[in-house]
Amino acid sequence: MVILVHYAEIGLKGKNRPFFEKKLAENIKSALQDAGVPADVRCLPGRITAEISDNADKSTICGVLDVQFGAASYAFAESTGTSFGDIKHSAEKLIAKESGSTFRIAAQRGNKKYPYTSQEINEKVGEHIVRTLGRKVDLTKPDITCFIEIVEDTAFLYTEKLRGPGGLPAGTGGNALALLSGGIDSPVAARLVQRRGVSVGYVHFHSYPYTDRSAIGKAEKLARILQKYQPPSYLYLVPFAEIQKLIVNSPVPEPLRVVLYRRTMVKISQRAAEKEGASALVTGESIGQVASQTLENVAAIGDAADMPILRPLIGFDKEEIIAKAREIGTYEISIKECSDVCSRFVPKHPATKVRIADVRRAELEIGTERLVSEALKRSERNKLR
Ligand code: ATP
Ligand code: MG
Repeated sequence: MVILVHYAEIGLKGKNRPFFEKKLAENIKSALQDAGVPADVRCLPGRITAEISDNADKSTICGVLDVQFGAASYAFAESTGTSFGDIKHSAEKLIAKESGSTFRIAAQRGNKKYPYTSQEINEKVGEHIVRTLGRKVDLTKPDITCFIEIVEDTAFLYTEKLRGPGGLPAGTGGNALALLSGGIDSPVAARLVQRRGVSVGYVHFHSYPYTDRSAIGKAEKLARILQKYQPPSYLYLVPFAEIQKLIVNSPVPEPLRVVLYRRTMVKISQRAAEKEGASALVTGESIGQVASQTLENVAAIGDAADMPILRPLIGFDKEEIIAKAREIGTYEISIKECSDVCSRFVPKHPATKVRIADVRRAELEIGTERLVSEALKRSERNKLR
């Protein structure tokens, strides 16, 4: 049996295309290997094939392919020669296994030197099926569609096309570090960046031992779900309560606190990112969603970083974010109650238009730089997987 993998966007990549194809092929090969399914993986023009043993477990394979970014769709296919005799014989065998009284043949020539057009293949194979199996042709709503792809000197035939996750192959887009709160938004943000081929690590700020470990547990669960789509990653757990207390007990005006917390998180995260070779941070901010997410405050938070902060949700509505969170399987975990890091220290009326000069001055008064280097020393780095 052959797994036939189609990609969408990689096809548009011009000169870099072989780099993306090769990476996707490598990812598929090693993920199948890890799942106990040895495969002979090849890059053919426009698609990737993985030859596997006929009795390999399909659901295991789907589990692997469903998390391969870069795969737009895939199919379990039969491969045969390109003579009409071979193709007709394979199509007949394949359709005979399917229930349904109507069918259609959908042929495609990757190889334009093939002496028949797609339409001619459809007609000839179709006639054969009508004659041998007595099924009827229905081009609009058939019970069975038999896809035939002719690529170089092989014909691939299959009846079911499964959807892959799309995006670009893991490991093609560099490294980023996502600030993972345990809320609904940040896991979705991390996933969107990951989907573009970026390998993502995670950092979570917690108040343990002032609270229980439930928030940490949530962050760990979320990180593990996200992690399935990429090579082994890591999660930093950074104690944050002391820092919050220091900010709360300082003479700095209460409304500035939220931005100060976020700036400090960003600075600590940046140090961790540098250590890990990550070149951007990722947050779940969305304009206007809460008081700290105004344009002014986003700017005041961004000012704390010397590397780009990616905010893939910036223009998303909450409803859309929730739908995505459900889709990627993080929503149910995110909505679980837990003793949140900030809730005890959040001001009643956070400032919505913080001026950069004001927070910078406040930080000098409090001496947050020292806290930043200490926080990373006191943090834990856990391998995921
Ligand atoms: P989320 O749903 O991701 O918690 P939110 O809507 O609650 O986001 P904020 O609390 O303003 O928004 O946080 C904005 C972003 O800051 C989060 O999306 C996340 O990336 C980061 N962040 C906030 N709190 C933490 C935390 N305790 N640990 C790590 N990152 C955090
Ligand atoms: Mg939150």
